[in-house]
Amino acid sequence: MKRLCLDSARCTACGLCIDKCPREALQKNVFHKPVLVKGLCTYCGLCTELCPVGALWLCGNGAGVLAPPIDELG
Ligand code: SF4
Ligand code: SF4
Repeated sequence: MKRLCLDSARCTACGLCIDKCPREALQKNVFHKPVLVKGLCTYCGLCTELCPVGALWLCGNGAGVLAPPIDELG
């Protein structure tokens, strides 16, 4: 199962991923950091490539998950 993970401590709240998602699957939380709108994300990976500080990445349920999946933070 694909998921989108966010390192919230690394995120600078620049808003780029939110602005550029072709599915409008990301919204701002109260700290202006991204949360995922369930059901809209296609896990295309564009936001993970655009993030200037590497705070977003595609992750699964197992090894390599370094931060809580953003799916579960929303
Ligand atoms: S992986 Fe693609 S669809 Fe999902 S939030 Fe990022 S840019 Fe949007
Ligand atoms: S592009 Fe990266 S730094 Fe900017 S809001 Fe998104 S996750 Fe945070």
